[in-house]
Amino acid sequence: MDYRKFPKIELHRHLDGSVRVKTIRDLAVAGRFPLPTRDLDRLAPHCRVGRNCRSLGQFLQKFFFFYDFLKSPEAVERIAYEVCEDAAKDNIIYLETRFAPILQATREFSMEDTVACALRGIARGQKRFGITVRLILCCYRSESPASSIDTVEIAKRHLGRGVVGVDLAGDEVRYPARPHYPAFCLAQKYGIPITVHAGEACGPERVREALTRMGARRIGHGIHSVDDRRILDMLLEQKVTLEICPTSNVQTRCAPSFRAHPLKQLADAGVSVTINSDDPGVSNITLSHEYTAAVTQCGLTHDQLALSVRAAADAAFCDRATRRRLRRIIDQKWFRPKRRTA
Ligand SMILES: [Zn+2]
Repeated sequence: MDYRKFPKIELHRHLDGSVRVKTIRDLAVAGRFPLPTRDLDRLAPHCRVGRNCRSLGQFLQKFFFFYDFLKSPEAVERIAYEVCEDAAKDNIIYLETRFAPILQATREFSMEDTVACALRGIARGQKRFGITVRLILCCYRSESPASSIDTVEIAKRHLGRGVVGVDLAGDEVRYPARPHYPAFCLAQKYGIPITVHAGEACGPERVREALTRMGARRIGHGIHSVDDRRILDMLLEQKVTLEICPTSNVQTRCAPSFRAHPLKQLADAGVSVTINSDDPGVSNITLSHEYTAAVTQCGLTHDQLALSVRAAADAAFCDRATRRRLRRIIDQKWFRPKRRTA
């Protein structure tokens, strides 16, 4: 089945993990940063993970190579615009992309301005490529609790104007979520939809923490929920949706292989699962690639995949009119398809 032809929804894609190699080169040149090479083929291995990646920590290390190039208004607007173009090209009709303002801000470029620039790029991209794109602002585990409060305050100011939620991202092995509880308390008070990276590299207790202490409605990854029946029951009872990213999980070794990935087990247990690309630039993949991997390698049936796309429409942090439109398109194309051979 060629999933490029199907309309798709993505809820979990990092803006900074989606940057094209050519854009990384252009931004480095523009900012006068030294590069090991300007040749794109030779530059690519510096920006993408290879087979030798051993952990989430090593995966995140890749970002250090190019992160300094991204800290300017032009860079943020450009990568936001290009994420719209790349997603539309892959027939994604609705995308929630995310980034951590604290990581892209500098003394001269405020967190608030990073968000304004991202929203400008998204506004241009949506118009040009006919795709709906919303923004989630990430608090970051290794950054200060105060920066997370600032992130939530910025999200509140832009809520309903392009920003639809907040997240906690970063290395959950080395940095616990607890210091960021106050920020998530505030987000709940403001009624901002919350998703939290949890149960990716760590166990199911982190998923419980995200649900009970942080008000998460969705969980980024959450694959280790499968290790605890009580957490699975919690996900089912509270109708929590998991944002699963198969290739990312295999590359970070959070799942040993595609075949051993718990996606199928979670779907069989009735958990609301969605398929996402996480960092398509760093992983060198597309969402269609992930849909294909979900079926051919993780063992999901085509019908389960169709249900996951519908689940993504249901769990999107969008307004009701947008959800109705997404549901209509998904139901038409995924559930009443004219049978055609792939
Ligand atoms: Zn992620």
